Amino acid sequence: MKVAVIGAGVIGITTAWELAMDGHEVTVFERRGAAAEEGSFANAGVVAPGYVTPWAAPGMPRKVLSHLFSRHAPVALGLPLSGSELAWIWKWWRACRLETYLANRARLQRLAFYSRERLHQITADRQLEYDRSPGYLVLLRGEADARMVEPGLQVLRDAGVSFRQIGSDEARKIEPALNPDTGLLGAVHLPDDEVANCRQFALLLKTDAQRLGVNFEFNKAVAHMDSKQSATFLIAGETTPRSFDAVVLCASLASARLLRPLGLKIPLAAVYGYSISAPIREPLNAPRSALMDERYKVAISRLGNRVRVAGSAEIGGCPDKKRAASVQTLYKVLQDWFPGAAHTSNTGASVQEWKGARPMLPDGPPIIGASGLPGLWLNLGHGSSGWALSCGSARAVADLVGGITPAIDMDGFDVGRLTR
Ligand SMILES: Cc1cc2nc3c(=O)[nH]c(=O)nc-3n(C[C@H](O)[C@H](O)[C@H](O)COP(=O)(O)OP(=O)(O)OC[C@H]3O[C@@H](n4cnc5c(N)ncnc54)[C@H](O)[C@@H]3O)c2cc1C
Repeated sequence: MKVAVIGAGVIGITTAWELAMDGHEVTVFERRGAAAEEGSFANAGVVAPGYVTPWAAPGMPRKVLSHLFSRHAPVALGLPLSGSELAWIWKWWRACRLETYLANRARLQRLAFYSRERLHQITADRQLEYDRSPGYLVLLRGEADARMVEPGLQVLRDAGVSFRQIGSDEARKIEPALNPDTGLLGAVHLPDDEVANCRQFALLLKTDAQRLGVNFEFNKAVAHMDSKQSATFLIAGETTPRSFDAVVLCASLASARLLRPLGLKIPLAAVYGYSISAPIREPLNAPRSALMDERYKVAISRLGNRVRVAGSAEIGGCPDKKRAASVQTLYKVLQDWFPGAAHTSNTGASVQEWKGARPMLPDGPPIIGASGLPGLWLNLGHGSSGWALSCGSARAVADLVGGITPAIDMDGFDVGRLTR
């Protein structure tokens, strides 16, 4: 089949690659001049399937409210909120019910474990070399953090994830550069989880996809989808529509705008986050792998010869206006745990400060599968775990396009659950 993929983030690239592996003739349309320039550009890189759970969870609204007004809050609101953002919050609040949460958690974890397996398989089969380190350490500064992680540990037990609750001495053996002056009660160690550079992987897989014959058309923004002819769309600035046997929409947040004229109203919200990436000054003072500061919900990752610190969840606001307090929290947490590890003077050009959007659906699972319109398929809305979910989502959507039953149960990933 002749298949178009719209969007060259990590979701679009993995999708295009899987479709090409199945023998389809694939073209990718991307509005930017290169791949992985938006949400997949500088995320934390954590691949920890046991921690891939919906943000819509019981008790979450109270937690969010309690955080809102503290200085280094992990959650912020970009006021004023728009009508669609308020409607999204309402839907999110409704999805926080226990039974909804449990069902969505099971779905997400099924996909996340499958995805990690696919990621490892692809990496080995195609001999891809990108920055990655094994292990994940959740740092608990005090008793309150230990209490906060307890429900999450039950989730890990239920999912059969291998983890250990360890004391501070052992945590410091795993990460010897942890600052001895910052109080540490203990940690949760997950040896099978990892951190890896999402953008590097996406770029390597893009090159591999090109070898398989995938054609990438950059600087081509899809202006609108044709509502009368299936699998047809118009590129901005062109007059002749492009027609395919099938189209897979992987355009993250922009997907909602493209689908609205077709009668599909998808509640996608941007939940912004930040990262700083800085070159390592002294490897002995730097982290070895990925850590999560549970109190500030900030991830610190070792990505080759750089340290990346990522966090914050901001609903509302705009993509190019950075909230200074959120960025300062990242510097603070890095300084707390790994002082002197990296060149962080942001007066020089060495630190990359990034604001990115998590394409978030209110209930958690992404939309993967048929749109209900002939020839149009969807793979979008992966929220805070798009990297961890990418390879499994791509394989599943490629199977569905090809009329094959995916290897995992795809119940609950349909678009209908959100548009009914
Ligand atoms: C601070 C932060 C930390 C994160 N940490 C992690 C983590 O540790 N682990 C994890 O798994 N996930 C993490 N994520 C989430 C992850 O980064 C996203 O879920 C993922 O990158 C989404 O990928 P995507 O391909 O859907 O979107 P994108 O990468 O944004 O790709 C969408 C592409 O579509 C293109 N596009 C849009 N409209 C059009 C159009 N009309 N025509 C043509 N092209 C178009 C865009 O230009 C873009 O390239 C994090 C996110 C943030 C913000």
